Amino acid sequence: MSRFDLVAFDADDTLWHSEDSFHAGEQRFVELLTPYAPAGVDVKAALTAVERANLRTYGYGVKAFGLSAVEAAISISGGTVPNEVIGAILAGVRAQLSEPVRLLPHVAEVLAALSGTVPLALITKGDLIHQTHKIETSGIAHHFAHVEVVLEKDPPTYARLLSEVGVAPDRFLMIGNSVRSDVLPVLALGGTAVHIPYPLLWELEHVDHDEHVVELASITQVPGWLSATT
Ligand SMILES: [Mg+2]
Repeated sequence: MSRFDLVAFDADDTLWHSEDSFHAGEQRFVELLTPYAPAGVDVKAALTAVERANLRTYGYGVKAFGLSAVEAAISISGGTVPNEVIGAILAGVRAQLSEPVRLLPHVAEVLAALSGTVPLALITKGDLIHQTHKIETSGIAHHFAHVEVVLEKDPPTYARLLSEVGVAPDRFLMIGNSVRSDVLPVLALGGTAVHIPYPLLWELEHVDHDEHVVELASITQVPGWLSATT
């Protein structure tokens, strides 16, 4: 018998690569804008500040990044940024939205092994169209009893999801790469969470905390950890 009635996975940077594309997009933005930025302006920091200010309005995802990048390009350049640069930013957004899903190593085999032992869920935040497209084309959607694309991963959202599927928080395990989004809100509800770091973390996902967080190096360690925890 599992200690858990539902084991949920985050998707971006937990099941498949994501942040490396955003990181590349940020670097491309810095290269494109630097010729039009006044000396001494930190182009990357300015972009992140615009993204932070827009978070509540645009939410998460590639399209939100694109709108913030265009806004930042206009403000950083004092309105002098050429149309070609705006066009290059938009082309980068379109390319990122069309990228094929790149699963992280061993994800498919671990999900296949776990799905026979405990119900699995996928909980991801961001753009509904893009996330749905990635889930549908990932080839791993059939392992999940529940798939949820949410606006924000906070305690009220997790509480609502758990109540909808009839799972008590203390019978719920969440696994993901973000302590801010996948771990702390679940611990706050009395659930269990496991952190599997990805080499890159978006600046707006950084969080200061003093919780004890269970950390595994790879998804391949999840089945063994579950057996030892049960
Ligand atoms: Mg993630």
